[in-house]
Amino acid sequence: MDNYSVHNKMKLGFGLMRLPKLEDGSIDVAQTADMVDLFLEAGGTYFDTAFAYPGSEEAIRKALVERYPRDSYTLATKLICNADIRSEEDAKKEFETSLERTNAGYFDYYLLHALQRTNYFKYDEYHLWDFVKEMKEKGLIRHYGFSFHGDPALLEELLEKHPDVDFVQLQINYADWENPGVASKTNLEICRKHGKPVVVMEPVKGGILADPIDTVKEIFDQMSTGLSYASWAVRFVAGQEGILVVLSGMSSLEQMKDNLSYMKDFEPLNEEEMKTIERAQQAISEDKTIACTACHYCTKGCPMNIPIPEIFNVENRKKGSPEFRTKREYVIVTTGKGKASDCIACGQCEAACPQHLPIISLLEKCRIFEG
Ligand code: SF4
Ligand code: SF4
Repeated sequence: MDNYSVHNKMKLGFGLMRLPKLEDGSIDVAQTADMVDLFLEAGGTYFDTAFAYPGSEEAIRKALVERYPRDSYTLATKLICNADIRSEEDAKKEFETSLERTNAGYFDYYLLHALQRTNYFKYDEYHLWDFVKEMKEKGLIRHYGFSFHGDPALLEELLEKHPDVDFVQLQINYADWENPGVASKTNLEICRKHGKPVVVMEPVKGGILADPIDTVKEIFDQMSTGLSYASWAVRFVAGQEGILVVLSGMSSLEQMKDNLSYMKDFEPLNEEEMKTIERAQQAISEDKTIACTACHYCTKGCPMNIPIPEIFNVENRKKGSPEFRTKREYVIVTTGKGKASDCIACGQCEAACPQHLPIISLLEKCRIFEG
């Protein structure tokens, strides 16, 4: 591993999955460019996009690559094997497409994307580990790694089989720290044992910890720090040993400013603050909210076109709402799409869900909104 610390002066990385949008649904490149300016000015360097994030690679070309010298930032992107990718050729073509879309010339970090039990063999089958090494030898990739949503035993297996990966990207946040479905803590320990620096994704769990459940809010409010809920989540992760950078998927200038306010001169949580996090973890473990991050990985291949995350959002928001309003919201999100009762239990969505949610049984419970 070479000079990572030189590349990353600040431990905050700019995640480009949820960029600001214009009214027509396209990415707001002007606002993204303003966010890029602030981020670089504060000492940030790490940008994280992916072939699979719609419009993101093109947007970062306009907002960053065409506006700054290539050696003033580092760019990460990813190659995915999802339901759309049906051959080795399709998969390898992603690399070329990402180079064209970004016009970055090379990638500082390149990842095999979202490996888990249900898909990791495809990356072997299509010889993608050899492919990324080949691209690295050609100088088109500086560091290669993989992002991971699987269990600790699979992580061990992959790191033993591929000891020369440069880094690993993991979902780490205080809510999933001991969650057996995500295993943030154990997976981080495994990477440390193998000497692999970790890039953190989902430190605020897809935004859930930026606006947490009321019991968690009360715990943080009692501390009267005036800091945002997201800041607790990001600082918790950034203070862990072995972290290269913490990605925050920022969607507005306000979010960028908030993140920079505590990450520019980062201070890890102190003992009292860590105890506060423990209380928040306890409150979350007692909560029944569906921990869906609205990533939409599940909806792509759903044969019944069921808006799974939107239905779960209705379920999560129903607490304290009158019944008629919940049913009306359900009708709005399912109009022109599949309903919970249309699910044929094919299992495609559960195989794709990085949070390992029991989607089929959760949808069954949501059928009550149809009555
Ligand atoms: S199990 Fe149900 S919700 Fe999931 S992909 Fe199949 S039909 Fe869609
Ligand atoms: S159910 Fe899972 S895959 Fe679908 S949006 Fe939620 S977290 Fe993502």
